[in-house]
Amino acid sequence: MLTTGPRGTKDILPDTIGQWLYVEKTVRDICDLYGYKEIRTPIFEHTELFLRGIGETTDVVEKEMYTFIDRGKRSLTLRPENTAATVRAYLEHKLYADIAVNKLFYIGSMFRYDRPQAGRYREFHQFGVEALGTLNPAIDAEIIMLAVQFLKTLGLNDLKLALNSVGCPNCRPVYRERLQEFFRDKLEELCSDCRSRYDRNPMRILDCKNEHCKELSMGAPNITDCLCDECTDHFEQVKSLLTEAGIEFELDPRLVRGLDYYTKTAFEIQYAPLGAQSAVAGGGRYDGLIEECGGSPTPAIGFAVGLERVLLALEKQALLPEVSQAMDVFVVALGATAQKPAFKLLCDLRAKSIKASMDFAGRSLKAQMKQANKAMARYVVMLGENEVNDSCVILKDMITSDQEKIAIKEVVNKLYAEVKD
Ligand SMILES: [Zn+2]
Ligand SMILES: [Zn+2]
Repeated sequence: MLTTGPRGTKDILPDTIGQWLYVEKTVRDICDLYGYKEIRTPIFEHTELFLRGIGETTDVVEKEMYTFIDRGKRSLTLRPENTAATVRAYLEHKLYADIAVNKLFYIGSMFRYDRPQAGRYREFHQFGVEALGTLNPAIDAEIIMLAVQFLKTLGLNDLKLALNSVGCPNCRPVYRERLQEFFRDKLEELCSDCRSRYDRNPMRILDCKNEHCKELSMGAPNITDCLCDECTDHFEQVKSLLTEAGIEFELDPRLVRGLDYYTKTAFEIQYAPLGAQSAVAGGGRYDGLIEECGGSPTPAIGFAVGLERVLLALEKQALLPEVSQAMDVFVVALGATAQKPAFKLLCDLRAKSIKASMDFAGRSLKAQMKQANKAMARYVVMLGENEVNDSCVILKDMITSDQEKIAIKEVVNKLYAEVKD
């Protein structure tokens, strides 16, 4: 147990960190391009926030939260997603006071007690974007474009954008009734989850993963036929802006988010080569959430991308770049007398921003050269007792294998000229 991490967690080791940094840099570059600023909220929040902000009837809240009582007898929960926390921070710090529309993004760990499977962990990472403060359909189009551009920049081109509108509290009750009417005589055949959804949240029956439920919901009425004028007009504008921007989409009336504070635009981006787990990004409007969390009514929209899925896709398509962590110089010191001048040399190299390291285990020449190779050092500087006595070093070019003896006081400048050229 001491040498095994908890189930559903994963260490990111030094040989793969470069891939994460690459994806995270892409996130930051795109968000910068679109004018979104990073927000970092705590890993845990009051449990109440997620009960309100995700919905007590959702699977996440009912079955998947990491909730604990702290020493002060408060109920806290490791964040299962980050929209609710972003909204909490937005309200707590009155971010709306200075800026009409807050455009925010986050990258970080989320936690869900889920059955671990390929590409799915109990601690997983998401990148997400939230735009708070406007109902303008242009922001819907903007954040969808941002998500698409992020994935395309990484080289994931085989994308499918599914789009829907889930209406608003004015038009959705009509739709709920029509759905309940449709499922009334099929109720007995639905799975037990769907039977309980029938009263509480019938729209969720449409995204049940159970095959029989899928069959039963064929021919169900579409929400887009029940939208009020405002929702219809908003949806038309989002679609026309996306078309204008050259973003292809497919209408998917089954893309639903059943809770009252989810409104209007809903979307999902799938990457087909991932097969069963092809959804890499999902989001939509949540015009009722900020009010639900205690603020004044404020329209907002966001999405989240699962970074493990993205990395899985990049790996599958061999799209991960080789990330070089090569050193400029490796210093090889042989014998006790060489240790101090070697360390001094190391410091002088770093003072000139030359990436340098050395062996600290006092090993043989052969072992140290092996380590220099592993560090992909461009140059090796060697010094033993003789070199120390002559105030010089042996400089080896690791590409040409040429080596020369030069004065120790000249080596830093010479390497600086070579490396920084
Ligand atoms: Zn409506
Ligand atoms: Zn079902």
